[in-house]
Amino acid sequence: MEDLTPIRRQYLDLKRQHPDAILFFRLGDFYETFDADAEIVARELDLVLTSRPVGKGQRVPLAGVPAHALEAYLARLVERGYRVAIAEQVGEPVNGLMPRRVVRVVTPGTALEPTLLEERAPSYLAAWVEEGEGIGLAYCEVSTGQFAATQWTGPEARREAEAEWLRLSPRECLYPVTPGEPATPPLPSAGEVACAFTPFPAHRFAPGAARTALLEHFRVTSLHAFGLEDQPLALRAAGAILQYLQETRPEALSLLVSIEMYSTARYMLLDPATRRNLELVESASGGGRRGSLLSVLDFTRTPMGGRLLRAWLSQPLRDRAAIEARLDQVEAFVEDPIARDRLAAHLRGFPDLERLAGRIGSGLASPRDLAALRRALTALPEIQALLRRMEGPHAGAVRPLADRLEPLPELLELLSRALVDDPPVTLSEGGVIRLGFSEELDRWRSLAREAQAWLAELEQRERERTGIRSLKVGYNKVFGYYIEVSKAAARSVPSDYIRKQTLVNAERFITPELKEYETQVLNAAARQAELEAELFRDLCRRIGEELPRLRAIAQALAHLDAVASLAEAAARHRYVRPELTEEDVLEIRGGRHPVVEQALAGRFVPNDVVLDAEGRILILTGPNMAGKSTLLRQVALIVLMAQVGSFVPADRARLRPVDRIFTRIGAHDELAAGRSTFMVEMNETAYILHQATSDSLVVLDEIGRGTSTYDGLAIAWAVAEHLHNHPKRRPKVLFATHYHELTALAAYLPRVRNAHMAVAEVEGGIVFLYQMRPGGADRSYGIHVAELAGLPRAVIRRARELLRRLERGEPAVQPKAPPAAPLPLFAEHPVVQALRNLDPDSLSPLEALHKLYELKGMVEGSSRAGSSAEAGPEGGWG
Ligand code: ADP
Ligand code: MG
Repeated sequence: MEDLTPIRRQYLDLKRQHPDAILFFRLGDFYETFDADAEIVARELDLVLTSRPVGKGQRVPLAGVPAHALEAYLARLVERGYRVAIAEQVGEPVNGLMPRRVVRVVTPGTALEPTLLEERAPSYLAAWVEEGEGIGLAYCEVSTGQFAATQWTGPEARREAEAEWLRLSPRECLYPVTPGEPATPPLPSAGEVACAFTPFPAHRFAPGAARTALLEHFRVTSLHAFGLEDQPLALRAAGAILQYLQETRPEALSLLVSIEMYSTARYMLLDPATRRNLELVESASGGGRRGSLLSVLDFTRTPMGGRLLRAWLSQPLRDRAAIEARLDQVEAFVEDPIARDRLAAHLRGFPDLERLAGRIGSGLASPRDLAALRRALTALPEIQALLRRMEGPHAGAVRPLADRLEPLPELLELLSRALVDDPPVTLSEGGVIRLGFSEELDRWRSLAREAQAWLAELEQRERERTGIRSLKVGYNKVFGYYIEVSKAAARSVPSDYIRKQTLVNAERFITPELKEYETQVLNAAARQAELEAELFRDLCRRIGEELPRLRAIAQALAHLDAVASLAEAAARHRYVRPELTEEDVLEIRGGRHPVVEQALAGRFVPNDVVLDAEGRILILTGPNMAGKSTLLRQVALIVLMAQVGSFVPADRARLRPVDRIFTRIGAHDELAAGRSTFMVEMNETAYILHQATSDSLVVLDEIGRGTSTYDGLAIAWAVAEHLHNHPKRRPKVLFATHYHELTALAAYLPRVRNAHMAVAEVEGGIVFLYQMRPGGADRSYGIHVAELAGLPRAVIRRARELLRRLERGEPAVQPKAPPAAPLPLFAEHPVVQALRNLDPDSLSPLEALHKLYELKGMVEGSSRAGSSAEAGPEGGWG
């Protein structure tokens, strides 16, 4: 240690205080990182990794970023889940060493800066605590002040907690760690969510410490009002969040004015697989918004409305009254397209009031933020009036929202008086406060201006006085204002000129008078800046007092934006209002898939689906590509949309709200996404069989496909029987399968109905009609589909011949044929095998043509030879 340079020692000290964070160490115009940090930073930010001497013969890795670009680099690190501690230089050098202190720790879940936040997605900081079977979960969004907690107990706690955790997709999650024990995150971090797991001392999660933190923060003596007293696990998680913020982001605490205790039982439970399968907020394939349900419903005009709509889609309601209330609001805007347009016009370009209020409350607001707030407040009375003028039978449903948009005239008046029309980006640029707002400020301003004018005239005056035409007045940081004269003329300067600096070709002078005005200019400028900053802070403080009201306004606007967006979607896509009923029924007439119908632009074929007490299980058969999966998802989506409070893509929809939607998409169908294995499929199926209630909707698409045909068929069969026969758990079930053998179930299970996707045969080929009809599919049409897929004609011909033989009960293998090849022909014909081994992407067009000839040659060869083997059931073609 003695061999190290003082600065290295200082660095190591700071690093010891923040071992889990990347330390950004300010060195002049750069933030430098060292050692392992430097390696991470160089890799993640594509920076050059160099090294630096730190003592006798020692060098360590180094990577740095320029100070002016800090935010952009921070954003990238934080997005990838890193914590960053920023050490700044503070004060004056001591023994030649700048003192440094960590002034800020940036973590993924505590970001407030717009550059670090995604506009249309929430950014949650969560805390997770477990005890026995119970789990407590709390979360907050420091940029908006949202703060909530919940807990689960019982054997299903973990599953339900994980589902909720996934819905939230927090950016950062605290979990308890006991010193000396290894820190293991409570959830597998490998998932779609990039979450930074932050170990936090277990004693901070202890009931006592957590309670104290909550009591002190909310300045209360009991937590009854928040509903937390009898929710010990939720309380512990919430208390840990507060303690963590005290350490990392204390300025955010003032935003957390309340905490909501909630229960996920109020909402439809969607397990992670179902969220993914239904592609609610992002598509399963690319992960982007395109192709998601959100993408067809989102006409929101503000980021806060966008975030709320997204939250609604992942949290459908269960309570009929709550759903109807939202539907009424949507309908109010469906009825009144003019009001909808006007509201949209107001909201377009409307500031993100929710996060704006957050920045003001935490002292991070810029002058532009205040101007945005002024704009927002100016628009409020008009929006309110517009909402109150709405007519139509459901206009009343919007009234309470209008009432919450209570304008704040005093605040608006203050902002208008105080703030210039178009303030600069940063306070340090000056010119933020309007003329006439503060007499003192104006006085300093005019002093500064006068002195400035005097200086500007000086040059002219001195040229005349001295007769030196090259004379110039200049300014630099070291000497301040000076008079510059060329070397040649320097001899003839007046006697009151004091020489200050000699350059190659010129001399620089000052005069006592010049220095006096200089002091005035600089003093006035400094005073002006100080005063302006003070006035600005006052202004922010004053706004801060209205934070709860601003938050309420922001939430009302977000809500309006979201319901108007659903109305816009309903109008554009011709949706209808779903009818909620107590009757045990799910009836959809002329239903469409909301996303697929957009892609098909008018060519989508609507379908009716009815599930009720007599027919609860629908077995849907039909060949591949006939539209089975689409129909299944469409039913699930219509139910989900209805419970979100949205209109639905159908001519009519009548339903009783469901408690859960389960979906299980067969392993085979999901393989493309590289996620599933047969084991996972069976796990999830087991979960459904255990959890589905008579109020649930279960969607099973091709289960049992990930294993051999007979296994798969047997499993699918048994699952269907179980769902039918369970004495208490009798969910409504849609079961799509290419095993048309399953249609036999309807013959002995009274509540099972068969349906199939219609197919028309034309000239030996088939056309999909996408129409669901009663009864099972009579055939699988596997060979037709193979033909459509472009299998060589000879293969198709041979397959037809084999099928005919099998259907007649004849063996596919001729008795006189040579001993059968061990491989079943249908699955393993050499041509098929060759095709399977083919990688089209790696072939040139010419090679492809050659390959085609080769395949044809093989086919003709083999059919002539009549070589054959035992054929597998046709289902193998799926
Ligand atoms: P399956 O599950 O029976 O194999 P899919 O549901 O995957 O079939 O549908 C295959 C394709 O058929 C879809 O990608 C879509 O383009 C089209 N399709 C499905 N349903 C319809 C419909 N109702 N109207 C028009 N086209 C449809
Ligand atoms: Mg399918």
